Amino acid sequence: MSRLLIVGSVAFDDLELPKPIEQTAHAAGAARVTERTWERHADVWGGSASYAAIAASLFAPIDLVAVIGDDFPKANLDALEERGVDVRGVERAAGKSFRWAGRYDATLSSRVSLDTQLNVFADFKPKIPAHARRAPFVMLGNIHPALQLDVLAQMDTPKLVVADTMNFWISGERALLGKLLEKIDVLVINDEEARELGEHHNVSRAAAAIRKMGPKLLVVKRGEFGALFFDGERPPFFAPAYPLEDVLDPTGAGDTFAGGFMGYLAHCDSQGGKLDRGAYRRAITAGSALASFCVEGVGPARLLSLKGAELRERLSAFKSLVHVEHELDALTLLR
Ligand code: AMP
Repeated sequence: MSRLLIVGSVAFDDLELPKPIEQTAHAAGAARVTERTWERHADVWGGSASYAAIAASLFAPIDLVAVIGDDFPKANLDALEERGVDVRGVERAAGKSFRWAGRYDATLSSRVSLDTQLNVFADFKPKIPAHARRAPFVMLGNIHPALQLDVLAQMDTPKLVVADTMNFWISGERALLGKLLEKIDVLVINDEEARELGEHHNVSRAAAAIRKMGPKLLVVKRGEFGALFFDGERPPFFAPAYPLEDVLDPTGAGDTFAGGFMGYLAHCDSQGGKLDRGAYRRAITAGSALASFCVEGVGPARLLSLKGAELRERLSAFKSLVHVEHELDALTLLR
């Protein structure tokens, strides 16, 4: 079985989320909702590596490397182990776990960070356990690019390396990030980050510029508008986000997408499948389907309860979502 190493944050999140519309309408006794109310969810299990590991563990065995404080519940680690996540690389340090607080707007499409407390994460120096150094698939979560480079230096010869990053590193550590980009195969970022990194407002042009910096493959996440996959071919591949009626909490959707994407590729490799264009397209669709479950619950709750049959059903709904009869290109035109 091809193992996937995931390095990143494991955290507590304090989330301020708009109450679901039905609930607000019911409470107000109103047919139309003009005002939303917000609900605070404290101490929700979060962190980029948590979401990625929970998602990827549906497809492949995972080695997780992270740091937690002495306040982090053992029950969460047990839940990961039950899913086939090897947590021997999760270091428990004296002090508090990383904590992030965010507030979403009424449409759930944008958020502000209210607070980031690095705590034990401030001194995080990922140590890859000997057994995990052989992992052929590596996912470098959003941490300092110097640490991402250090993780790669500890690995044997991975087959596929994916990395995530954020505006903070793009503007603050561009030179180091450049070194990292030369060593990775796939970069997964959102459209705003792609524009900043590629220094072009047009996402396709920004993508072309980023691919010249190193990663031959680039995934640009566009939230509720899906994800684009650039591999140098025209057109790029596009996977829509599943149009859900009830979105509760978008936190972790991007990390879930990346975890599902890499987990699927590791699974495909285990089965002797080639990592070709078709495999990447299926991986992006698997990541999108998993992200659609992530946002249906607060924190990782919905992902943790997800059954294989539910995922298969949504994957087949995805196929219908984008299926177009082939007769379309034989359309008879009037002029
Ligand atoms: P996403 O919604 O996909 O951007 O992921 C949100 C998750 O990333 C939350 O669970 C946070 O705990 C975690 N997170 C937020 N800020 C950071 C940061 N600066 N470094 C690492 N992880 C973070």
